[in-house]
Amino acid sequence: MSATYTVTNPYDNSLLGEYPHTTWQEVEASLALLQSGRQALRKTPACERASVLGKLAELLAANSEALAELITRETGKTITDARVEMKRATNAAIACSEEARQISGETLDSDAYAPMGGKFGIVCWRPLGTVLCITPFNFPINIAVHKIGPAYAAGNTILFKPGPQNTASARRLVELCYEAGMPADALQLCVPALADMDRLNAHPAVDAINFTGGSAAADAIAAAAGYKKLLLELGGNDPLIVMDDGDLDAAVNAAINHRLATAGQRCTAAKRLFIHSAVYETFRERLLARAGALKVGDPMDPETFVGPVINRRAAEAIERSVQQAVDAGATVALGHRYEGAFVWPTVLENVPADCELMREEVFGPVLPLYRFTDVEEIIPIINNSIYGLQGGVFSNNLAVVRHLFEELEVGTLAVNDGPGFRTEHFPFGGVKASGVGREGIKYAIREMSYTKTLVL
Ligand code: NAD
Repeated sequence: MSATYTVTNPYDNSLLGEYPHTTWQEVEASLALLQSGRQALRKTPACERASVLGKLAELLAANSEALAELITRETGKTITDARVEMKRATNAAIACSEEARQISGETLDSDAYAPMGGKFGIVCWRPLGTVLCITPFNFPINIAVHKIGPAYAAGNTILFKPGPQNTASARRLVELCYEAGMPADALQLCVPALADMDRLNAHPAVDAINFTGGSAAADAIAAAAGYKKLLLELGGNDPLIVMDDGDLDAAVNAAINHRLATAGQRCTAAKRLFIHSAVYETFRERLLARAGALKVGDPMDPETFVGPVINRRAAEAIERSVQQAVDAGATVALGHRYEGAFVWPTVLENVPADCELMREEVFGPVLPLYRFTDVEEIIPIINNSIYGLQGGVFSNNLAVVRHLFEELEVGTLAVNDGPGFRTEHFPFGGVKASGVGREGIKYAIREMSYTKTLVL
């Protein structure tokens, strides 16, 4: 196993850096430091933690353009998408600062079911200890803020483990956290070799793991973690449903923005489109006109809508999934074109319900269209996926919306919006293989705490 790793720009393969993996000795030293910092952090008043997080928000805003450019170089995400990510990260830090002030429990009377001596139960939230925060490549700053911010707000010390591709942006984020006032014994960064991850997941000095990424890594974490508390935000195969009364221009917009932005590499991307047959032809025509006109190319160019995916291997995997659908009978209405790490917007029709594109997560700018007449027909197809993250439906028919809300196995259903709807303070997370627990700042703070009760 090499002691160093290189990071290249997905757009032009230029070398961005060569970094040493964090050695196991360094990981152990970081964990010992974080353990020694727990007492001090526990005694740091909530108002001080809130003010550190408020300062972090200011620093993120002040450094947003430089960080957005770094995100674009590391991930190939367009500069427009990277700027949106930085706005979201700043808002997430603001919400962390505000929620840090709101952490409070409740008081219970003991006599509800038996006299019980007239006691009070004073229910409080307390930090778990040290949280290992593991992040994926696709939203390197925003997801990291969604983990570090709530963990710190709750009073935990943090070992931050970013995707190796994002080493430079992760280092910069940690510098900003330090500048905002987080002490080094509250936050440490590590990028160990993959071979060391299992023993890190199992390490007794790690009390909880807050992870966003794919199910293979999540399986390894769950197997190693034993009784540690886990917050797992995983993949999705989210549906976008367009009913016969749906606003078609708004629905096309959502399909474009929620599936083709970030080149489709988003857990909540609109990965399957279910279009009512009464509006199918019009929707299809408008979608093809819009998607076919999007600029594919240099992600630093503000005109570009679709940049490269994270690397050539990822592009090849997308091509395989599309080809598999085509071999099974799907027809290509647009795209199915590849070059290096670039995948052109691809629209497929007549996609069999049981092929990989409909059942698994495909992380690229691919839109499989499924035509239906009765909503009952698509509910089992949508639910026939290991994932259940979010959904979107275009309709003003409240009965249909209510029915889908009850029947779809998802964490969130957005009405007249795509499944990618997310705002920092709403609960966020899914069911089945999409994960365990909830992000969304207030909810993540709860996840990063345990309940402690004083009986008085
Ligand atoms: P990934 O699972 O390959 O990697 C995520 C992180 O886990 C990286 O830091 C990686 O180094 C680390 N990792 C890998 N093996 C590990 C192990 N055995 N133990 C601990 N950590 C390990 O995911 P990725 O390719 O970076 O990101 C794409 C995936 O993330 C997709 O499945 C996507 O849906 C998911 N995702 C989910 C959300 C969400 O909030 N639900 C958000 C973004 C991305």
